[in-house]
Amino acid sequence: MDPATIVIRRLADGPTPPAGAATALHTKVAGVVAAMGAPPWSRRIIADERQLVTLIASPPGGGNRPHWHREFDEWWVVLAGRLQWELTGGVVLRAEKDEIVWVPRGTVHHILNVGRDVSLRLAVAMPPANHYFSPCEQCGYTDDGPRE
Ligand SMILES: [Zn+2]
Repeated sequence: MDPATIVIRRLADGPTPPAGAATALHTKVAGVVAAMGAPPWSRRIIADERQLVTLIASPPGGGNRPHWHREFDEWWVVLAGRLQWELTGGVVLRAEKDEIVWVPRGTVHHILNVGRDVSLRLAVAMPPANHYFSPCEQCGYTDDGPRE
């Protein structure tokens, strides 16, 4: 298997004011939540050659489609609610506000809101962040969909 590589085409030549940056300098989570409305939703917060940071809201019982990544480890900061990660090999983690979950490349992750309130998590991935959908071993979720 060939190694994955990234190309950084836009380089800074020196100290540069942040005007013109593609990403907002300051994001207020409460403002995003108010603007997005009822879950489920996801909103890209930061994107460049090396990082994709996404704010994700799920209603109670909601979650993602189980998948794994080939070329990067993914991690999340839980900002609200109570979430569960079902992982390859029978590992199950639960995390709530102010907790961080890290999952290595290759591990299927099925994330569920197991609380009574809307959950909010900030997901940190690497572009192009290809998803390889896969059934969840624990719950039998079998949505083997296309790559995104
Ligand atoms: Zn993922």
